[in-house]
Amino acid sequence: MSEPIVRYQDVHKSFGDVEVLKGIDLDIKPAEKVAVIGPSGSGKTTIIRMLMTLEQPTAGSIIVDGKNLWHMKKGDQLVPANEKHLRQVRGDIGMVFQHFNLFPHMTILENCMSAPVHVQKEDKSSARERSIEMLEKVGLGDKLDNYPSQLSGGQKQRVAMARALVMRPKIMLFDEVTSALDPELVGEVLEVIREIAKEGEMAMVLVTHEMEFARDIADRIVFLDNGVIAEQGPPMEVLENSENERLQSFLHRFR
Ligand code: ADP
Repeated sequence: MSEPIVRYQDVHKSFGDVEVLKGIDLDIKPAEKVAVIGPSGSGKTTIIRMLMTLEQPTAGSIIVDGKNLWHMKKGDQLVPANEKHLRQVRGDIGMVFQHFNLFPHMTILENCMSAPVHVQKEDKSSARERSIEMLEKVGLGDKLDNYPSQLSGGQKQRVAMARALVMRPKIMLFDEVTSALDPELVGEVLEVIREIAKEGEMAMVLVTHEMEFARDIADRIVFLDNGVIAEQGPPMEVLENSENERLQSFLHRFR
């Protein structure tokens, strides 16, 4: 058994008086593909935003590749993580958002090169080479000098993926990446994610409403409901054979 690349331990998260996550325990193995499903407002996005260090848990710990996200050890004491530590951890993680979040004033090649050059201080020519390679991988090798505004939503989302891949993350997070797209553009984006998943090395956490896709791609499906993991297991078990009534009624909406 390999060590988990991600470990949530009794993670709680409140916004004001509202406890959104009520004790999440979740281990993700290296290269494992985990799809997170559940009703709107159940805390799916919050789970992955915490992993990206965009939200801080109220209690519990999240450990990525052996490093605690929010607390570091100093002697025997745990102290809150500083920016430098968080930056290091973030380097292991790539995230693709619902709304692309590309830089509008940069070409798509510049979008991809930006983090390696400015954050990781990588040499421009090697960052450029890898960016081109990743843009080719997502089928946009002929659009390097285009600006985001010149692309379709599906193409923008593929740029966002290339931009995350350029950083060679150990973990990729996908937050409802197709839900802002016109239906006819969803397929091309899911296809690229499938390709990336097939290559195998990275762990992936996908929040998605695409049940067919989740079934195809995931090693494990996690059903989040009312701030807890109400069910989890291999896709067939969770999607076909669960006796959890809340899950059944949730899935019913997709039939
Ligand atoms: P899901 O992704 O399952 O739809 P979210 O993780 O986005 O759920 O949100 C879970 C709950 O937390 C929702 O009720 C949402 O309104 C609330 N929430 C999320 N982010 C914030 C925030 N920054 N401030 C206040 N409430 C928030």
